[in-house]
Amino acid sequence: MTLAERAAREKTLAAAANVVEACRLCTIGSTRTHSVFGEGDPCAKLMCVGEGPGETEDRLGRPFVGRAGELLEKMLAAIGLAREDVYIANTVKCRPTLDAGHRLANRAPTPDEMKNCRRYLDEQIDIIRPRVILALGAPAAKSFMGERFSITKQRGQWFEGPLGTPVIATFHPAYILRQTGGAMTEVKRLVYADLKAVRDRIDAPPPPPPAMEQQSLFD
Ligand code: URA
Repeated sequence: MTLAERAAREKTLAAAANVVEACRLCTIGSTRTHSVFGEGDPCAKLMCVGEGPGETEDRLGRPFVGRAGELLEKMLAAIGLAREDVYIANTVKCRPTLDAGHRLANRAPTPDEMKNCRRYLDEQIDIIRPRVILALGAPAAKSFMGERFSITKQRGQWFEGPLGTPVIATFHPAYILRQTGGAMTEVKRLVYADLKAVRDRIDAPPPPPPAMEQQSLFD
């Protein structure tokens, strides 16, 4: 990847982030503090996709910066990757909240919110063209693999995602943090296996170019 290509991607991502910042397609576009576009290496081989910003992310305008983010960084370190080596995004860019009287509480994004925001995630994938997408948790996994996807049964398996990108799902770091004792040990074991599969895939030689391009050599 040349420096010029990297700079061009950074510029395109910054322009897309400005569009997201101005987006009011959903009501959460008006209740959030900051939009959380995503961040990381514009040339990353791995893109991690979570559900949506929580309170800390909303306050800072950055993805995965709370407790779940700390664990995500440890998960990445387990396969030799630093946070800066990957690109981190979410299925929705604004914090979904509900009014809990004296404060705003987190909630899961609605299907409409995910649908409205999908264009931005697809654009990020198109700009970065990661070798692998790691979906964190069931909502992110379902956004790629469909509503019938089961995180307990189908995590750790490869699926074809946007632009033919291989997608694999694992448990969300926030889910891991909620486990205790033996359940925590078992979940961590499964997550490590999924992360190993990611590492192996990004280390594998890149797939050959499509047949059409090869054929054109003989035209
Ligand atoms: N959980 C998510 O799914 N995304 C974040 O950015 C933070 C927590």
